[in-house]
Amino acid sequence: MLEVDLVDINCNQLQNKWGVAMTKSYVTMEQKICPVCANVFDTGGLLLDKRLRERFDMKTVVGLGRCPECEKLFKEGFIALIGIDESKSTTNGELIKLEDAHRTGEILHIKETAFKQIFTVEIPKRKIMFITQEAVEKIKIINENITEG
Ligand SMILES: [Zn+2]
Repeated sequence: MLEVDLVDINCNQLQNKWGVAMTKSYVTMEQKICPVCANVFDTGGLLLDKRLRERFDMKTVVGLGRCPECEKLFKEGFIALIGIDESKSTTNGELIKLEDAHRTGEILHIKETAFKQIFTVEIPKRKIMFITQEAVEKIKIINENITEG
């Protein structure tokens, strides 16, 4: 575990100062991995070593979190359906770990109403669901018809 405190300040001004020549520092820009699109993004937060030891790289990935784009869709009530190659993914019954999912790169964002028409299962708590590429293709067609109708 890193002994870090989240410092709530805007890091944009500091970014220029740090530049590319930056080696290790006691501050680092916090990054997270989006569980939906798998992009690594800057959260805008800074992490600071309490003892001011210069041990951080310029950017540090601290965990999972929706990126701004996926967060926006989540707040608008969309459910993210992430396409995976099942033969290359490791599943545990009905569950899959994020790191075990072999993504096809296809992500569908569908409304709850559409979800209920397509699936017989409950809406997943985190509003993220992994589906096969075959299902992606089918749902694309169904979803188009729902939005048009
Ligand atoms: Zn995202």
